[in-house]
Amino acid sequence: MFFKSKKYVASYVKLEQCPKTGFPEFAFVGRSNVGKSSLINYLTNSKQLAKISRTPGKTQTINYFLIDENWYLVDLPGFGFAKVSKKQRGTWDIMIRTYLLNRETLQCLFLLIDSRIPPQSIDLEFVSWLGKNEIPFVIAFTKADKYPSKAVKKNIEAFEAEMLKTWDSLPDIFITSATKKAGGEDILKFIGNVMG
Ligand code: GDP
Repeated sequence: MFFKSKKYVASYVKLEQCPKTGFPEFAFVGRSNVGKSSLINYLTNSKQLAKISRTPGKTQTINYFLIDENWYLVDLPGFGFAKVSKKQRGTWDIMIRTYLLNRETLQCLFLLIDSRIPPQSIDLEFVSWLGKNEIPFVIAFTKADKYPSKAVKKNIEAFEAEMLKTWDSLPDIFITSATKKAGGEDILKFIGNVMG
């Protein structure tokens, strides 16, 4: 199930710096602490590819990993740090939105949502922005260690219900746990299908 090879390429702060090889890419984004590094490490079967728990407020970068020598996994900086300044938030916004709106090789964005908490407005607002701008995305719920536990199911259903207030249909949804190593196969299969 896992990739034949994976390697860290580099980190960038601007779209213009991102690789120009033309390889397709899949990006991962979510609120800080959503479990993004853990999920990336699980998917790539590595302990430390994405550093777990980066210090909030530290320089945020777009991190590129080359997988199987033919596509990129892109680790986008987390959003929604409670403790960062307005200026840092603005920097995140510009960096990520510029990337998402203009990166032609982006195949699909994985938006990570914490399954252990009820729907958060910051996530829902981001989802509507993605929709308005026609950015292709899927949702990966994280930390669903005990799925289908009642609480997690309730949170996921509530999120879907919020989305269906404005969407005709839901995007593909993955339910994952990095701790339990669950849900990753479906994500890898999805990426494999898009890659053809
Ligand atoms: P990031 O800030 O989004 O990169 O999140 P991290 O991967 O650093 O994880 C944030 C916190 O959530 C850490 O304490 C992780 O141990 C925890 N975490 C991440 N994934 C899981 C998971 O699948 N289950 C549980 N129970 N905790 C997780």
